[in-house]
Amino acid sequence: MLKRFKVKVTGIVQGVGFRPFVFRLASELGLSGYVMNASGSVEIEIEGEEQKLHFFVERLRREAPPLSKIASVEVYEVEPLFENSFRIVCSETASQPRPVIPPDVALCPDCLRELNDPKDRRFLYPFINCTNCGPRFTIIFRLPYDRPNTTMARFKMCELCEYEYHNPKDRRFHAQPNACPACGPRVWLSDEQGKVICSETEKAVRLAGELLAKGYIIAIKGLGGFHIACDARNQESVKKLRMRKCRPAKPFAIMCRDENELTKVVEVEEWEMNLLRSPQSPIVLLPHKEGSGIAPNVAPNNLYQGVMLPYTPLHVVLMRYSPSVLVMTSGNISDEPICFRNEEAIKRLSGIVDFFLFHDRDIHIPCDDSVVRPMAGEAVVIRRSRGYVPTSFELPRHLPAPALAVGADLKNTFCIAQDNWAVLSQHIGDVENFETCEYMRHAINHLCNLLGVEPAVSICDMHPRYHTTQLAKEYCEISFPVQHHYAHVLSCMVEHGVYEPVIGVAFDGTGYGIDGTIWGGEILLCELNGFKRLGHLKQMPLAGGEAAIRKPIRLAFAYAWEMLGERVFTLGGLESLVERLSSDERRIIPLQVARRLNSPMNTSMGRLFDAVSALLGICDVSTYEGQAAVELEMAATPAWDIDVKPLRFNMYWEKGSIVLDHRPTLLHLIELLSCGEDRRQLAARFHVTVIEMIVNACQELRSLTGVNKVALTGGVFQNKLLLEGSIDKLEQLGFDVLWHHQVPPNDGGIALGQMAALALADAKLLTRAIISKTFQTSPASRVKSA
Ligand SMILES: [Zn+2]
Ligand SMILES: [Zn+2]
Ligand SMILES: [Zn+2]
Repeated sequence: MLKRFKVKVTGIVQGVGFRPFVFRLASELGLSGYVMNASGSVEIEIEGEEQKLHFFVERLRREAPPLSKIASVEVYEVEPLFENSFRIVCSETASQPRPVIPPDVALCPDCLRELNDPKDRRFLYPFINCTNCGPRFTIIFRLPYDRPNTTMARFKMCELCEYEYHNPKDRRFHAQPNACPACGPRVWLSDEQGKVICSETEKAVRLAGELLAKGYIIAIKGLGGFHIACDARNQESVKKLRMRKCRPAKPFAIMCRDENELTKVVEVEEWEMNLLRSPQSPIVLLPHKEGSGIAPNVAPNNLYQGVMLPYTPLHVVLMRYSPSVLVMTSGNISDEPICFRNEEAIKRLSGIVDFFLFHDRDIHIPCDDSVVRPMAGEAVVIRRSRGYVPTSFELPRHLPAPALAVGADLKNTFCIAQDNWAVLSQHIGDVENFETCEYMRHAINHLCNLLGVEPAVSICDMHPRYHTTQLAKEYCEISFPVQHHYAHVLSCMVEHGVYEPVIGVAFDGTGYGIDGTIWGGEILLCELNGFKRLGHLKQMPLAGGEAAIRKPIRLAFAYAWEMLGERVFTLGGLESLVERLSSDERRIIPLQVARRLNSPMNTSMGRLFDAVSALLGICDVSTYEGQAAVELEMAATPAWDIDVKPLRFNMYWEKGSIVLDHRPTLLHLIELLSCGEDRRQLAARFHVTVIEMIVNACQELRSLTGVNKVALTGGVFQNKLLLEGSIDKLEQLGFDVLWHHQVPPNDGGIALGQMAALALADAKLLTRAIISKTFQTSPASRVKSA
């Protein structure tokens, strides 16, 4: 009997070849009807024998294209229309509940093959793409995802491209950025002033490759912004780049010509290689191989290299002519956002680079490379951006209103949500200067437009002086603060979909506490409606505030003074530390500590890592965020053994919280330093001590609360030794341990956690607040510490 079904498919189903797939499937089964992109879903009507209709739905789920991800399939029966063909209907702009924007996709194997085939009409064409690969998020103005709504709109397809685009049997059927040398974007090379040197695509790319081989520094326009590139084996070029970019020590990412070249540079396992060649193609942090020839100043004092494979056709073609490994760092000036427009790049980067490799496919919204660190046998996303954004997360409950969460000021991302879905933005950076604030506003407006969301509520950090806190108020009259570390723990819970009580271990650099002091070494019992602070690191004075963060040596000295007073000048083990300070510092820091002048009290675990790094003479001055802690981890790595003896520490209860007292640890370190113990060994023992603190505190809290789930979160858990050691020890004791995979453990995950706090907050209270606009207290601060 003839029947007609209406099928609604949600998930990642646009821009991934879904409609052509449906078309082929329906044609194969001899069904009539249509398929079309609705906003955020694909709508299908099929007509035919009932059995075949069921078979269609079954195969739809089973054989969906590789890049698609079906969230739901709804089937209704409707009146048959007695059609005799199947067609693809043009997109409708009707608003639907969950818009889905496809992320950018790395070059696929089929296109790579054509790119390298001299007989193919797209041989060496830097903008080859198909239904399964190419730019998406970065070129879309508005939904639905169709060519006129992208920056490809101004390129009129030639006859051949047009034919592919309209042919359901072609693998470029409805590939929106489809292009070829005859009709598509082109490349040119300019000097540092922006004057064109070579305007022929193929020659320009070859010339750029040759100039890189000669040691020049070139800005290269990529998928989500500009990179700055130079030969990674040329120490002089790298040195010049560091000087011009004012970036003395922060490691640069590198790109290797192919998999073979990559295996010469880093130790890589098969699953890690799969990550590198995945559609997301992130930068992956892997152990550096001896004898790779990579200049030591690419990643100074680091045992790892951030590596990636060429993920756009332009990179592939360039690397035919360039050195086989290139430094590929974000095209920006120190803390400013990444450049993505041609004119802007000339203005901002001309003092840094010698040449520009431009193209005329505009980037509508920038998106940095994503960074992944393999830890505990899994991929942990450290920076979630290109390739991952803007896929959405599911919230624990429906929101009372559309919302914007602005995240934190450092490593910022923001989050936009409605109903029970949330989209975490691309990496914005440190929201500390005018440029980044402007960039953030632009990115918020763009994503709100794309998603069709008008936030009625905003959520921000509790820190009163964060720029993002101001921004949140600017966007919505009603703005709720959420405590920083609670947001960290929630971000980890959201990605695992776990909403039963957990013991959250949130260790990071700085977060504003509900008591107005600086937190950062927190153990929180997190429940659906709030948290209790059940443990923290011993409070210590942050002498000199910001200065102590930039100069860990000041911090180490201040902590020593806090414990020892005048004895710091006579005690063995501290001589070298005292010597490395200026006479001013030796005089002023004790005053700051004794009188608590510009010395906010803090419980930060990140700062403790900094202090220990300086105490051991590993890193006195941080030129990038986290440097002292990273170098401490690197020092500990060769001596690493989870069974080395921990240093002394103390743990006691005070005012309803466990205090992890690290003063005995620091004294123990000083004592062992005076005995001339090996610093690497001490670095390893310090790591084990922190693991021991975590394990002891969790055991004590489990016996008190009965909670067996532990979530490890915060920037400190980007440390591989600490994360893996903690997981191992906790699991041995029967704990159920959660850690980050898809959401960064650092502040890049805060916005999602803030959004979850809103979703979990008392809905009635919030609704009333939104209606009356009078709600003042934060949902999190209503829960007092125990
Ligand atoms: Zn492709
Ligand atoms: Zn063409
Ligand atoms: Zn944090």
